[in-house]
Amino acid sequence: MYKRCPNCGEPFEREPGFYYGAAYVSYGLTIALWVAVLVALIVFDAVGLIDFSIMENPVLFLSIGIGLLLVLLPLLYRLSRAIWINFFVKYREDAIAFNKARETEKEEKRKDRRAESNQAKD
Ligand SMILES: [Zn+2]
Repeated sequence: MYKRCPNCGEPFEREPGFYYGAAYVSYGLTIALWVAVLVALIVFDAVGLIDFSIMENPVLFLSIGIGLLLVLLPLLYRLSRAIWINFFVKYREDAIAFNKARETEKEEKRKDRRAESNQAKD
């Protein structure tokens, strides 16, 4: 993952452990995926495309679910992090200017602190 947004400069590394919460989002997305697979199999069975029953053929359900999960893992990982950070960072129309101003402010504070510590040494 990027350390900062390449477009507006929003920092993605907010604090240590920030993305632990994304595991809950990932869990929800995974459940949704399994339900979607089950519904799709039931619909295909009802339409007559396949002969499926969860009680008679759970291996089909499990293999499709696990296969899809493995293929979509990189997508789910990034999507759950993006959803998680969107709970805390609100959309700003002036994000580029806002983040640039915030960065220069931080840089000036750093310079001030450096100057103060140099004065203390003298
Ligand atoms: Zn951005």
